[in-house]
Amino acid sequence: MHESKLPFHEISPWVAPPADLRPALDRDLDADVVIVGAGYTGLSTALSLRAQGADVVLLERDFAGAGASGRNAGHLTPTIGKDTPTLLRFFGPERASRLLAFADAAVEYTEETIRKFEIDCDYRDCGNIMAGVHPKHDARLRKAAATASELGAHVRYLPRDELRERGVPEAFCSGILEELGGHLHPGRYVLGLRRAAIEAGVRLFEGSGLVGLESGARVVARCEGGGVKADHAVLATNAYTPGIGRLQRMIAPLRVQLFETAPLDESQLAELGWRGREGIYTSHEVLESYRLTARNTVVGGSGVVRHGWGGRLPKAYDRRAFEIIEGAFRERFPTLHAVDVESFWGGWIAFGMDFLPSLGSDGEHGNVLYGVGYAGHGVAQATMMGAMLAARVRGEEHEFEAALRRRPLAWPPEPLRWVAGKLLNATLEAVDRRTDRQIRASR
Ligand SMILES: Cc1cc2nc3c(=O)[nH]c(=O)nc-3n(C[C@H](O)[C@H](O)[C@H](O)COP(=O)(O)OP(=O)(O)OC[C@H]3O[C@@H](n4cnc5c(N)ncnc54)[C@H](O)[C@@H]3O)c2cc1C
Repeated sequence: MHESKLPFHEISPWVAPPADLRPALDRDLDADVVIVGAGYTGLSTALSLRAQGADVVLLERDFAGAGASGRNAGHLTPTIGKDTPTLLRFFGPERASRLLAFADAAVEYTEETIRKFEIDCDYRDCGNIMAGVHPKHDARLRKAAATASELGAHVRYLPRDELRERGVPEAFCSGILEELGGHLHPGRYVLGLRRAAIEAGVRLFEGSGLVGLESGARVVARCEGGGVKADHAVLATNAYTPGIGRLQRMIAPLRVQLFETAPLDESQLAELGWRGREGIYTSHEVLESYRLTARNTVVGGSGVVRHGWGGRLPKAYDRRAFEIIEGAFRERFPTLHAVDVESFWGGWIAFGMDFLPSLGSDGEHGNVLYGVGYAGHGVAQATMMGAMLAARVRGEEHEFEAALRRRPLAWPPEPLRWVAGKLLNATLEAVDRRTDRQIRASR
């Protein structure tokens, strides 16, 4: 816990270092593939590679799940890109439709992974709702739902009456139901993948941060205690990748933050409604997210994002951001005014300029692969990325790789990036504050 009075978690309430922490790398090794980073991307890649018979070493700086995979809100969602109308505008109908199909397939692949490895992670396939918080959002939601379903996505528009029938709290006016997916316990999911990877024979080293990557026909991934020589390296370090000196212009790490309340009692649950327990994200410019957990707490947050200079990670503890996310929760859920917030925490997500994930290879020999940039939707997409990276190692192309292939867009260099990021953030936050003022005025 942090020294401040706010109940802050250095990582999150979802995970703690496992009792069977694997030892740090303390010698030189040889492998077919060395993977760096043990979150959903790294663990899912390792499992797919083991299934095809590869000898895999997985290096994790901290413990598996200490990154975003053990900190997120657990919405298993087919959301992709900024929104569907933007996908359509930039990529045209055929490509937009393939991207939506990729996102749907990623949810289904994750569900299959949970089943296959018998991961007990409180998964609930209740769907998620992108919800308007002001009547002005309605037309946009209606249009986005129509566009997405014309392109083949499993979504439908939910008018106000249907939200009320479902018991979705009053603050949410109308919405788009994503029928695929739902939510899960992200910590149990990542630790379940870790257990499955160990059982499958992945050689996992925790407390083993990469300090250097030597290129060549065979790469060498170096940690303080030794090096791993392999035919391929896979960078599964997502928002941390610029920090290891790679992909600085491709992705921007942003910090987002969450809270968890105390468990609601029976009467609070009854008054709240929300029987279907659908995950909710708001149609603010910087969205807020809310969900109920299996132990009847509310986990929510986002709403504020922060970026660092030159791709550095902004610090996790941000008192002001925590106050803002709690304030938003209090406004949207007035019936829960007596429920305490028990924890706050923060983590980092990675954004490309077009909000789409990137799969590619780096280095002069093309044998350093990466899968990054899920823009806050990595529970499904990072899991799916594992199958795509493993196909690349086999020398094959996954059926959805073509949908993600595009000319890389680079973030501008510093100081332009810092200034542009600040301006954009301030503008989006101002739009959201205005929306919230309009909601208060209309009460
Ligand atoms: C607060 C928050 C809420 C979110 N909510 C959602 C949500 O509801 N739904 C959704 O779909 N997505 C959500 N996301 C995004 C999602 O969590 C990520 O997209 C996903 O976890 C990325 O997985 P990953 O394995 O690529 O990266 P990570 O889980 O970040 O894993 C990277 C790993 O690399 C390790 N590492 C870093 N540097 C080194 C090094 N030098 N050597 C070795 N290892 C290293 C890190 O310790 C870490 O374990 C959220 C993210 C955050 C932070």
